[in-house]
Amino acid sequence: MPGFELFGEEERKEVNEVLSTGILMRYGFDAARKGIWKSRELEQALCDRFHCGYAQLTSSGTSALTTALAALGIGAGDEVIMPSFTFVASFEAVLSVGAIPVLADVNDSLTLDPESVRKAISPATRCIMPVHMCGSMADMDAIQSICREHKLLLLEDACQSIGGSYKGKYLGTIGDAGTYSFDFVKTVTCAEGGAVITNNKTTYLNCDGYTDHGHDHQGNDRGAELHPFIGYNYRISELHAAVGLAQFRKLDTFLSIQKKNHQYLQAALSKVPGITFRTLPDPAGDSHTFLSWFMPSRELTGAVVAEMKAQQIFAGNFYWFDHNWHYIRKWDHLKTEKTLGRLTAAQSAALKKIGTRDFSKSDDVMSRCISTAISLTWTGDQLQEKAAKMVAAINKVMANASPQAHHSQQASLA
Ligand SMILES: *Cc1c(COP(=O)(O)O)cnc(C)c1O
Repeated sequence: MPGFELFGEEERKEVNEVLSTGILMRYGFDAARKGIWKSRELEQALCDRFHCGYAQLTSSGTSALTTALAALGIGAGDEVIMPSFTFVASFEAVLSVGAIPVLADVNDSLTLDPESVRKAISPATRCIMPVHMCGSMADMDAIQSICREHKLLLLEDACQSIGGSYKGKYLGTIGDAGTYSFDFVKTVTCAEGGAVITNNKTTYLNCDGYTDHGHDHQGNDRGAELHPFIGYNYRISELHAAVGLAQFRKLDTFLSIQKKNHQYLQAALSKVPGITFRTLPDPAGDSHTFLSWFMPSRELTGAVVAEMKAQQIFAGNFYWFDHNWHYIRKWDHLKTEKTLGRLTAAQSAALKKIGTRDFSKSDDVMSRCISTAISLTWTGDQLQEKAAKMVAAINKVMANASPQAHHSQQASLA
């Protein structure tokens, strides 16, 4: 799954080119840099690979989200609908521009449930932000039609799903803007970095200025640049972009290894009665970073997690329901408004609402889900052994469970 697993000569070569001139900044110093522009090169590579008009690199995926929100004109009091299952960065970015995160449920696609999105719309809603979690896509047709119907902006968080697609379009290129993360554990890494991609020139120019103090990037005298609007510093460095460039050239290799390993593991788990898999709105577009599977009930899921931990085979598996980073259930700092400074009154009221809202629909899904990260470095033998041990552990739990336990979830839903 993470690109750091296949790090080597290619990355070193790109970084050394930057070190040979010592120009570590992406802007200016035109003569001294001897034609080396790694950030520009990576932006062009993103546009070419994903058939999109514009790409703006940033210092992180989180700053890419903040930049995209700002570039789309989202600010104080605007509501942004996002899923209950995502990374904490989603609400951080929304809060950072003065806007209000509104959480909707996820369904068994592990992404936004369109029905829950509809219920979350209010007169203050400006944007829907689906998150293509764990390598795969949200139901974009349904979400796009809600956006059209209610005249809402669509911002895709594709930070975990670079290279995935939906009905022939790359994730991140479908909405008004999309974001990628190049942090250390993502499919492509720069160490730290991110990107906003868009087909809208104004949105792109807003990103270009916003990530560099609002400088307009006209002419070749940085000190003389004007400021059409106020920005921040969310620049990436040339060193990071150099790593990313080498990594990005390996994306297709990463994707094909992931697909092969994912298919093997899924075929093995498919043989276990009772196991089901994540719904994919477009199965052909999976980037295969994770295999996400469901047990029939919360009790059995807990038992499988415990059994796998006891056998020391849980490493590389994620039970998000109990995870502090990715699911509403453990976001106490959000629900109880633990901020260093004051939020706006509207933000504060919104967080109180999140703290008391019922997420049982999301709980039903997340409490039964385990995601297995797909490694790029497994050998055939390792993969075979891993699959065999997982299947044996799950079968053992199923065999020991009472017949009712297999059906408790369905019964409680009926
Ligand atoms: C990683 C991630 C981010 C943020 O990226 P950073 O580069 O770590 O700031 C945002 N959203 C999702 C879904 C992520 O997984």
